[in-house]
Amino acid sequence: MQIHTKAVHAGDRKKPGPATPVTTPIHTATSYFYDSMEQLDRIFAHEEQGYCYSRYDNPSNAALEELTASLENGHGALACASGMAAIHTAILAALNDRRKSIVAASATYGATVSILMNVLEPGGVAVRFADICNLDELRAAVAEAKPGCILMETISNPLLRVGEIDKIAEIARAAGAALIVDNTFATPMIARPLELGAHFSVHSATKYLGGHGDVLGGVIVTDREHYDNLRTLARAIGPVLGPFESYLTMRGIKTFPLRMERHCANACRVAQWLSGHPKVERVHFTGDAAHPDAAAIRRLFPPNLYGAMVSFEIQGAARAEIFRFMDALKLIVPATSLGDVHSMMLYPVMSSHREISPKHRERMGIRDNLVRLSVGIEAAEDIIADLEQALGK
Ligand SMILES: *Cc1c(COP(=O)(O)O)cnc(C)c1O
Repeated sequence: MQIHTKAVHAGDRKKPGPATPVTTPIHTATSYFYDSMEQLDRIFAHEEQGYCYSRYDNPSNAALEELTASLENGHGALACASGMAAIHTAILAALNDRRKSIVAASATYGATVSILMNVLEPGGVAVRFADICNLDELRAAVAEAKPGCILMETISNPLLRVGEIDKIAEIARAAGAALIVDNTFATPMIARPLELGAHFSVHSATKYLGGHGDVLGGVIVTDREHYDNLRTLARAIGPVLGPFESYLTMRGIKTFPLRMERHCANACRVAQWLSGHPKVERVHFTGDAAHPDAAAIRRLFPPNLYGAMVSFEIQGAARAEIFRFMDALKLIVPATSLGDVHSMMLYPVMSSHREISPKHRERMGIRDNLVRLSVGIEAAEDIIADLEQALGK
């Protein structure tokens, strides 16, 4: 079945009684009882399928989990309260019976770096960073660190670099490590990490999957080998999504493939227009033929879907000019987050990369004149007109 069909059918229309609801209800009950204590006992013992307590599972989350597992062709999924809860839980599950050591991509989401440095490392997990776009460097880091897991993003933030998931998965498997891929920026329309050999694909569902800026959530999709262990862990630590958020996320996913096609088409037009603007020094975009990872993108991404994040550098601009430019925007929302139906712009130096020293930022290639645009589904001409008037000031 194609992804557009799965997005509107998978997980829905379970038969709870004589009639079937066309969409999954919001099940708010925290616990369940049965005709007999004998039956409840069998459910607790996993001898019979059924719900008993909402931290373990509930029908609203089960529907979203079936849907997201289907979108990425995984064995099963776990719906979490946020993208960060998903990343943390996936790391704990991956390291459960492996060496307490992680090799992480040097370009990752700020809060992910924070989990690694401020939560896991003080807890005794060894953390090492490597450039995952340089496979020789990655191999050397893996040989030295002997990690229990490798952690990467399909498309990195904010410079939009793309590592070769399939080759990195081979390196992970050869080292006995699990590969966790944060697939938030790419979405299952562009990449399905489990098909490329990853063990866990995690999402901030707050972004493209939810898509409307009104729900915080996360998802972990995993394979048969890790699924039971992941659920057992989640039962104990309780990172679960609420049923109302589950409903909103599922509602968002039904139109996600359509939105993503539009997001991506708009991003191509906006990136091309920016490249020709005299005040724009450099555009970072996965659809650019001159992108440093163009060969990997051609090999791994579908034709014409490159993602919808565009970062660009404004000629000679420092903090004051960037503030003036972003204050002048009338349509594009100058807010944190990404992947909503409306276009949004963020200044990495002020927000996501604020805590990193200017020298380290410079080494990462994140300059003071860089902004990150999440291209929405508005008419491309209107997004371009807004950029044009704001750049002109
Ligand atoms: C937003 C984001 C996260 C964190 O997700 P939350 O839902 O905010 O917890 C993790 N990774 C990436 C790539 C993100 O964009």
